[in-house]
Amino acid sequence: MAAFALRTIEPTRFGSGWISGVLSATLGLLGLGAVLCFHFPALLTTPEARALYPVPWVRALLHLVLVGSFVLGVISLTLRRNKALGTVGVVCTLAAALLGGSRVPVEGELQQGPFLGLDWFLLNLILYSIIFIPLERLFARLPEQGIFRASWRTDLTYFFISAVLVQVTTILTLKPAMVFFDWAAFPAVQSAIRALPGIVQFVLLVFVADFTQYWVHRTFHAVPILWRFHAVHHSAEQMDWLAGSRLHLVDIAVTRGLTYVPIYVMGFADGPLFAYLVLVSAQATFIHANVRFTFGPLRWLVATPQFHHWHHAADREAIDKNFAVHLPVLDVLFGTAYLPERWPSAYGISGGEPPPRGYLRQLLWPFSKGPS
Ligand SMILES: [Zn+2]
Ligand SMILES: [Zn+2]
Repeated sequence: MAAFALRTIEPTRFGSGWISGVLSATLGLLGLGAVLCFHFPALLTTPEARALYPVPWVRALLHLVLVGSFVLGVISLTLRRNKALGTVGVVCTLAAALLGGSRVPVEGELQQGPFLGLDWFLLNLILYSIIFIPLERLFARLPEQGIFRASWRTDLTYFFISAVLVQVTTILTLKPAMVFFDWAAFPAVQSAIRALPGIVQFVLLVFVADFTQYWVHRTFHAVPILWRFHAVHHSAEQMDWLAGSRLHLVDIAVTRGLTYVPIYVMGFADGPLFAYLVLVSAQATFIHANVRFTFGPLRWLVATPQFHHWHHAADREAIDKNFAVHLPVLDVLFGTAYLPERWPSAYGISGGEPPPRGYLRQLLWPFSKGPS
């Protein structure tokens, strides 16, 4: 008999219709999102990215995605008793097709104004899933932990919200430095820094950014009001690439806004700045991943998953340790390094009031009165 349920105990092995169902639902939602981007480009796409899209290729790919999600959805519906996944995939594909599929025209000049980065979300999701899902399957630190572990919906919501609000978070990152610290920027210092070779600027930038981030992060742990915002990040009890997205918007704005101050004041060139932005988003994701790489002696040079997993450990001896995102040497220097050969026994918050579950409750929780 057919069934339609979000949770089932039906097997997920090859041939059960689960893999085709997950792929169909994912591709169907991606395809529908992309069609919406074609319909409302001014509202749903990132102006900086628009000019770079190879539109004919995007359309061809979108066509393949929609065909793929439909075929996989039909396979899943045939094989699986629980029709939820297959139905989501097929319904999204049909909705995308009814809205014009890959042939939606884009007409006229697009206005600059407020927008949601739906395209930014879709691109990031595609890129990070392609890199990290196979990596975590092949080199899992905890192989029994699946892709759809507990609270994955909460963390995907964080991933989604921070990507679609890219315009807001960018403004919150850049504006405070520009408005409040313009006085600290000296043209002579800035041109001397810009005259340095790109690689030297990049290394200096990573050091300056991580130094600032280290102290902001440590303050978030030490000051009770701030800890309530940052505790949300530490409430994750399973570590994987997606868990790193669990960051309260206030945590994102304050940490990024303050980290950007010295970067702005020092006036680095665009190339090293861009390289740093790529590094910080890749490394911040990587250090949360469920992978068992330990990097041998290099683990004291660059922050690794094992280094940051200890930052998230529920083990008493690891509390308030390993604040760096890039350079463990900062923790060694300031006496907060903790990196034994083993891995933590559990992740999450030990002691104190834990944040509630779910995106919205976690968003509001730090503003509610804490225990007195
Ligand atoms: Zn922390
Ligand atoms: Zn973390």
